[in-house]
Amino acid sequence: MNKQINIDGLVRDNIRNLKPYRSARDDFDKGILLDANENSFGAPFEDNFELNRYPMPYQEELREHIAAFRKVNRENVFVGVGSDEAIDLLFRIFCNPGKDRVIINPPTYGMYKVSANINDVAVDEVLLTEGFQLQPEKILAAVQPNTKIIFICSPNNPTANSMNISDVVKVLEGFEGMVVVDEAYIDFSRQGSLANNLADFSNLVVLQTLSKSFGLAGIRLGIAMANPEVISYMMKVKAPYNVNKLTSRTAIQAFSNMENIIKNINSILEERQRVIDKLITYDAVEYVYPTDANFVLFKIQNAVDIYKKIAEEGVIIRYRGNEPHCEDCLRLTIGTQSENDRFFKALEKIV
Ligand code: PMP
Repeated sequence: MNKQINIDGLVRDNIRNLKPYRSARDDFDKGILLDANENSFGAPFEDNFELNRYPMPYQEELREHIAAFRKVNRENVFVGVGSDEAIDLLFRIFCNPGKDRVIINPPTYGMYKVSANINDVAVDEVLLTEGFQLQPEKILAAVQPNTKIIFICSPNNPTANSMNISDVVKVLEGFEGMVVVDEAYIDFSRQGSLANNLADFSNLVVLQTLSKSFGLAGIRLGIAMANPEVISYMMKVKAPYNVNKLTSRTAIQAFSNMENIIKNINSILEERQRVIDKLITYDAVEYVYPTDANFVLFKIQNAVDIYKKIAEEGVIIRYRGNEPHCEDCLRLTIGTQSENDRFFKALEKIV
């Protein structure tokens, strides 16, 4: 289990040669700071966080917390404005617009394709199997000379299942480019994180986020973990002060409240089982797919109608029937017990 590729050789020429912006805080962060055109008179309200000053460009303290939690080194950790920023940066670092390609495995998270389109990068699609697993041989056969990134989502959105690790490893070992494994839902999964394998694969980037298991979607804090060379390219290309002070403070606070995070994860897992057990009792529900995430995908007769009628009852879920292999499928996020009960009450009124 090993793959070491030449990262420098894969990076776009303009990025390899880029002289990054040097912010004032790169040079000094102590003293009478009259170097960054900040407002020394302060914020317009009482403020304990020196919000009149720019945040730290490289977020060392926050990255230290994340590294300790995921058992990697700080040099392996990038933080950004949601995982969506990390996805965009990877396109900008590795993919020449109008020339390079990426591979995605639908049905999957929509942002990989949107980000590819924004960056004018071609997308090749290799469908998951009907059981929503990767087809590693087909993926590797779809690789072209200018294919730079393969995106794998595990647990996958919207299907909720984890990919077989052996298939992910086949892709990592067989591909001379970057493999991005999006683990946004990893803390709800029975499977461990691939972040533990960063040393084995220089072409592996693991994406995580505080938006799901940590319950902090509002602060927009996404994480990429990879070998230090990839991380330093991400640091070089990101906006100088991408993560703001309020976000990093709140994120650091989360790491001293781990018992509450774990309690909430366990409540979601308990509710997930209760929701599955109840869903399968309805005649209209044809199938509830296995889940390793904080949502379930299920197949139900007349899914579009049911989705609309449930919305009229004030409960909003997601119709996913237009995705490949997902005909008549709805995606339901696991809520609190009372939210889930409201969903079932609405469903019962309709079916
Ligand atoms: N990856 C996956 C698979 C997701 O489902 C989502 C959110 N729906 C994200 C990433 C986005 O995460 P963030 O909030 O960190 O941008």
